[in-house]
Amino acid sequence: MTPLNDAASALAIVALIVTMGYLLACAAWPFAPCRRCHGTGCLRAPLGRAFRLCPRCRATGRRLRAGRRAYTHLTRHYRHGHPRRDTRPPGTRRR
Ligand SMILES: [Zn+2]
Repeated sequence: MTPLNDAASALAIVALIVTMGYLLACAAWPFAPCRRCHGTGCLRAPLGRAFRLCPRCRATGRRLRAGRRAYTHLTRHYRHGHPRRDTRPPGTRRR
């Protein structure tokens, strides 16, 4: 192996580890703090003590991670093409 191949392999392995870590984080902690209000759910006025609720996160202080949003989109896309079959016997099915 040439030094360039070694470097490329090492870079690919590092990228794979980082990607797997991010996917694990998206599965374990799908929410991250809102970037605008830093997770507080309210925004302070520049002067004084006035505040208002954060419109971006609707005062929850949370945002869905981009990876989790992509996962949800892809699963919905898959389920749209593969609808779940109703395995209940006839007569017990919902109308
Ligand atoms: Zn917010």
